Amino acid sequence: MRPATHAVHAGRDDLSTLGVHALPIDLSTTYPVRPGEDPIPSLEAMVEGAAPSGNPVYSRLHQPTVARFEHAIAELEGGDAAVAFGSGMAALTAVLLAARARGGHIVAVRPMYGTSDHLISSGLLGLDAAWTDQDHVADARRPDTALVLIETPANPTLDLVDIAHVVRQAGPVPVVVDSTFATPVLQQPLVHGAAMVLHSATKFLGGHGDVLAGVVIASEAHVASLRQIRLLTGGVLHPLGGYLLHRGLATLPIRVQRAQATARELAVRLAAHPAVERVRYPGLPGGDPRLLLGRQLAGPGTMLGFELRTGAEARRVVDALELITQAVSLGSVDTLIQQPAALTHHVVDPATRHASGIADGLLRLSVGLEDAEDLWADLDQALTAERPQRRPRRRRRHQTTVDT
Ligand SMILES: *Cc1c(COP(=O)(O)O)cnc(C)c1O
Repeated sequence: MRPATHAVHAGRDDLSTLGVHALPIDLSTTYPVRPGEDPIPSLEAMVEGAAPSGNPVYSRLHQPTVARFEHAIAELEGGDAAVAFGSGMAALTAVLLAARARGGHIVAVRPMYGTSDHLISSGLLGLDAAWTDQDHVADARRPDTALVLIETPANPTLDLVDIAHVVRQAGPVPVVVDSTFATPVLQQPLVHGAAMVLHSATKFLGGHGDVLAGVVIASEAHVASLRQIRLLTGGVLHPLGGYLLHRGLATLPIRVQRAQATARELAVRLAAHPAVERVRYPGLPGGDPRLLLGRQLAGPGTMLGFELRTGAEARRVVDALELITQAVSLGSVDTLIQQPAALTHHVVDPATRHASGIADGLLRLSVGLEDAEDLWADLDQALTAERPQRRPRRRRRHQTTVDT
C-alpha cells in the first residue's frame, strides 16, 4: 500500500474486531491483576524493552492508545517500531542517554533546532560532542563515538543534509535524523541508511497545535533500549496525545501537500519582492546544492526562510502582519512566523548563530492551509507597509575611520 493509504489505515487493523470505527482511548494508569494471573512474564518483557506479553501492568511501562499511534507512525516511516515521548526534547534526551550508555562521544551537524543544540552543547547529559558539517563527519569520529546526529531540512536555515553521505562516513556508528521538517510524507531516512528517525510530533504529525509530543522510529533493538529509558525516566506521552497524533496522521499527506503547494508559490513571490534580501527554500534555485530533491526529499516542503536587511526590519514586518501569527512552533493548520535570532535560536550564542547562517533579519515561515492569495496579501502589505521615518544616522566613529 502507498503512504496516503497507510496514513488513513495504519494502527487500525483490529477496529472491526472490536466493533468500533473511531480509535479507542484508554485512560487507565494501572491494569488490575486478575485472580490467579501471573504478571511477572509481562513485567519482565517490558523491563527488557519489549512489548508486554499480556497485562500492561502500569501505564508508564506501556500505554495501549500510545502504542497504536507508535504502530502507525512506524509503518509510515518504514521502520520496525516506534517509541513516543511527552515531547520532542524528551525523545532526543532518550536517544542521547542510550548513546551515553554505549560510549561517551557524539558527532552532531549544525545548524540544528536551537534547544537540541543547547542540550548537546550544555554537557548536561555528560556527553562529549563534536560539532561538524556534513562533509567532515568521518574526521570528527572517535573510537568511542556512539551516535551521529543530523537534522534535515535544518531548522531554521532549510539547509539540506545528504543522509546517505553522512551514513557512509559514520561507518558502524548509528545515525539519527531529526526529520521533523520533512515528515514521512517527504522523506524516509531509514531508506537512506539512518538507524533512527526522530520527530517533534508537536509539529506536522499532530498538525493542529494542540499536542506536545516526540517520537523515534527505529529497528527493534534501538527501540528496546529507548523503551527501557522511557519506562525508567518517565518521559511518557499521555494517551489523549497519542489519540490526537494518530487521528492527525490520517490527514498528514494531504496537509503537507497542500501547504507545500502554497509554500512554493510564496517562496517565488518573496524572492521577487524588493524588500526581501534572500529566500531560503529547497525548491528555489540554489536551495538544493546537493541535488537531494527527488532523491532524498520528495518535495521542497512547507517551511521557508526569508531575510530582511536587519533584525529591526524583520521585527517591523512581523508586527505589521495581520493574518499570519507570530509564534514559535510549526506544522500547524495555520501559518506561523518567527524571527529565529530573537526567539527559537536566542539560546545559541551569536557567533555560532551567524556561522550557521542564521542572520538577525531571517524570518521563518511555517505555511499552513489558508488560501495562498490571502497569505500573500498579508505578507505583501507587511513588507511594503510604510517604514517608520528614519532618524538621521549618527556618524559612527570607527566606521568613519574605515570609510575615509
Ligand atoms: C520543535 C522541535 C524539536 C523539539 O520538539 P518539542 O516537541 O518542542 O520538544 C526538535 N527538533 C525540531 C526540528 C523541532 O522543530
